[in-house]
Amino acid sequence: MGESAPAQIDGMEVDASDAVRVRFWGVRGSIPAPGPDTLRYGGNTSCVTLEAASRVPGEPPLLFIFDAGSGIRALGMSLMREKRLPLTAHLLLTHTHWDHIQGFPFFIPAFIPGNRICVYGNAEGDGDALGALEGQMIHRYFPVGLGQLGATVQFQRLEHGVHSVAGLCVTVAPLSHSSVTVGYRVEVHGRTVVYLTDAEPRREGDQIILDPTMLTLARDADVLIHDAQYTDEEYPSKVGWGHSPTGYVVDFARAAGARRLVLFHHDPTSDDAKVDVVLERARSLAVGSPLAVDAAYEGMEIVLPAQARVPDPAAVPVGAD
Ligand SMILES: [Zn+2]
Ligand SMILES: [Zn+2]
Repeated sequence: MGESAPAQIDGMEVDASDAVRVRFWGVRGSIPAPGPDTLRYGGNTSCVTLEAASRVPGEPPLLFIFDAGSGIRALGMSLMREKRLPLTAHLLLTHTHWDHIQGFPFFIPAFIPGNRICVYGNAEGDGDALGALEGQMIHRYFPVGLGQLGATVQFQRLEHGVHSVAGLCVTVAPLSHSSVTVGYRVEVHGRTVVYLTDAEPRREGDQIILDPTMLTLARDADVLIHDAQYTDEEYPSKVGWGHSPTGYVVDFARAAGARRLVLFHHDPTSDDAKVDVVLERARSLAVGSPLAVDAAYEGMEIVLPAQARVPDPAAVPVGAD
């Protein structure tokens, strides 16, 4: 981290060890793909956490969870080992495809009385997140219903736009996917983490365009976690399937001014060697730009030291007292 000088955030002095942590528990798309060919990147489906110290003295760290794919099971066991009880977790669901909700019935903290799981997502039609969580836990599929869980599970719909969630600024924007899907931008302690998966490039005719709404969501992100399911060679036969090819993802990240791109939602047929090739290709496309590129793997952790917010002079009303 280099230095230990205290920083100021929202007028409060914070320690340089006061970091924002992003951890990857599941990085695979579509269906879990465990086995000897996916050992290094991992076979579990989408689940990523963002943790940061609370600004409220005495409060436990903030825990945000992006999606509840099968990776959330290992997260739950880790939280239990750390005895993080009682736990409050904020679960931000992008959409209700299986690979983003299927781990929820195996998230052990949801069974523990005193814990609180706040679920955020869409509430309508085929994007109805609460209905999907309930539906996959009816008796036919699972022995314990959502309403029988020991923890308090609350649901809140988040419309497109900017919200305050647990005191953090969370922006929600629509993505181009085969189902109602959103991406999230979370701003915490001067850092910005963007979770933008299950997203396909927008097109005008045969041309791929950089969607202004998605670009705004990802603007200047410290960490941009982006769908990168297909290679450029595969994509022409997968148009309309709701996922992105390598070249577009790098172009998008560069145009958004992201500092670090994390390739995510690896195809279940992509073995470790293929993800290596995709990563190498993406890095070669980023040469000459300040963009750093990684491919997400289970157990990967990114630590961002908290950063003092630089005041935006344009945001200060002239003549205001
Ligand atoms: Zn998915
Ligand atoms: Zn999907």
